[in-house]
Amino acid sequence: MADRYLHLTGTAPGRFLTRRLGLPQPAPLRRWTLETPHLDGPLLHLTAGTPTVTGVAETLSRAGLPVVSRTDRPAAIVLDATGVATAAGLGDVHAALHPVVRSLAPGGRIVVLGTVPSPDDHHQAAAQQALEGFVRSLGKEIGRGSTVQLVRIPGGASAHAAGSTLRFLLSPRSAYVSGQVIELTSAAPGPAAPDPVADPAAPLTGRTALVTGAARGIGAAVASVLARDGARVIALDVPGAREELERTADRLGATALPLDITAPDAADRIAAAAPAGLGVLVHNAGITRDRRLANMPADRWASVIEVNLDSVLRTTDVLLKAGAITRGGRIVATASIAGVAGNTGQTNYAASKAGIIGLVRSLGPRAAADHGVTVNAVAPGFIETKMTAAVPLFIREAGRRMNSLSQGGLPVDVAEAVAWFAQPDSTAVNGQVLRVCGQSLLGA
Ligand code: NAD
Repeated sequence: MADRYLHLTGTAPGRFLTRRLGLPQPAPLRRWTLETPHLDGPLLHLTAGTPTVTGVAETLSRAGLPVVSRTDRPAAIVLDATGVATAAGLGDVHAALHPVVRSLAPGGRIVVLGTVPSPDDHHQAAAQQALEGFVRSLGKEIGRGSTVQLVRIPGGASAHAAGSTLRFLLSPRSAYVSGQVIELTSAAPGPAAPDPVADPAAPLTGRTALVTGAARGIGAAVASVLARDGARVIALDVPGAREELERTADRLGATALPLDITAPDAADRIAAAAPAGLGVLVHNAGITRDRRLANMPADRWASVIEVNLDSVLRTTDVLLKAGAITRGGRIVATASIAGVAGNTGQTNYAASKAGIIGLVRSLGPRAAADHGVTVNAVAPGFIETKMTAAVPLFIREAGRRMNSLSQGGLPVDVAEAVAWFAQPDSTAVNGQVLRVCGQSLLGA
């Protein structure tokens, strides 16, 4: 279902009318293409206080943009605020960004680098937590399709660990991600990560990726982006969707695996489909069976928990235990902003998606220690798919507009976030839940 309002505000009369009425002004977002893989302009590198991490300049120099310390029109601004440890030090954040924020190019990026709030120093913790409120507010006011994020790097660590994260956030791939806080870990699971610069165009070469629910929608986009990044893809969907699945798989040069993930032998059949092991496992399949709790029969409750959560727990356990996910591997599950904020008529769905958040936070550190595997989740907001096309008109319009970018996301936006988790050098990204929601007003 096309976003006609976005089209309308892209025309001069439409813009005039909607401005007069005080209606939202969504800016068209520029996504990644082969021809335009980078933002168009320089990256302004600023600092506030004395940084506590090393290697920031070197890491930024590999993000694909020319790094400068002064410019009239930055495409991106990175503020290193890792050294801000007092309330007074927050003045340096204002002093650094206040003079330049207006000069950011449309569709620009601001990334604030922070560090983990300390459990032992409440002044440092207050100052670093303050950055979160700052970033979330700036994300809401910046407009023109620009985004703002906070990346926390553990104190004393090298910014090198943030390489894949900065490449993602400072590129068109993160067009629909804003107001997010990403906390990197210092523990480095698995073997030394392969050098991503070896083949930046196809960083997942040599890895097998399995995507559930891949016949259509977000899953098909994930399969497509992972294939673009060089992975050998196995696309799984229910046998009832076989034709659509085979069409998608053929288009991507992927292997189709018609299988219901709730089948008792699903994990074994997945393992059999990837005898050399899986480098990336994406739990994307999901269903909704909406009703208010008072009207919800047990079967609607159970089917949603079964598909969205229980099958994810079960297959993950079996595959990890069997060693079917290779060291350095990546598990990415799919939550939802409904799992963060809750939603009327979705007690079952929101419970299942909040369960996914619990799963990744708990399993991430242990899977890294025991298997060298990271476990993360995407939490999509309003994404234009068949699932959301079925939503009644007014609720759909509200879902599209109630975010800082005033529009719905596309399946590819979620897929790019999955691909970031999957990067070989995303080793320090673990136990994270990334909302791909244009900074939806629902939830934190
Ligand atoms: P979709 O309905 O378009 O696609 C889901 C796919 O999963 C379908 O192809 C379906 O056949 C498959 N599937 C369902 N049950 C399965 C099973 N038992 N075994 C194997 N495959 C199964 O949905 P979508 O919008 O692309 O959503 C993908 C994921 O993203 C879901 O987990 C969904 O909850 C989540 N999500 C979507 C949105 C959104 O706005 N579209 C928002 C938040 C979260």
